[in-house]
Amino acid sequence: MIKSVKQVSGVTFKKCSCCDKWKSLNLYYNETRGIAGTQSRCKECVKIKTREYALTPGGKLVKSKSAIKLYNKQKGKYNKDKIQKSSQAKAKYALKIGKIPGTDIEFKRGECAHSDASCSPSIQFHHDKGYDNPYDGIFLCAHHHKLEHIRLKEGK
Ligand SMILES: [Zn+2]
Ligand SMILES: [Zn+2]
Ligand SMILES: [Zn+2]
Repeated sequence: MIKSVKQVSGVTFKKCSCCDKWKSLNLYYNETRGIAGTQSRCKECVKIKTREYALTPGGKLVKSKSAIKLYNKQKGKYNKDKIQKSSQAKAKYALKIGKIPGTDIEFKRGECAHSDASCSPSIQFHHDKGYDNPYDGIFLCAHHHKLEHIRLKEGK
């Protein structure tokens, strides 16, 4: 076996299996199972190989996989927005007809949950428990509703 590690005045050098240059261990990435605890290729060669790999079909696949992941993440947000919009529309419709569609359960505009001097006259429905159930929520005046959403947005 060719010796790929040597000591020069107390410093350990290792020969890169790729470019055949002798380099000190800090120019290699760590690998517990590797000789002298580092990878057989120096950092520079690993970087070049990684760049080359990104251009191969396999590398492109890895890249497109992370693109798919990102896409799914955005789709998740899109679906959430869709549920929110549909719940808002359902609640609005139920208020219009005065009951929950398809049932005899009354659904009428109540008073603002805060109900104080600063209330504005227009009363809106607010999904305080999230948008999973379109008819589960509280009534807030436009003024307090706006404040509530600012509060939610700031995550307090
Ligand atoms: Zn190298
Ligand atoms: Zn109010
Ligand atoms: Zn709301």
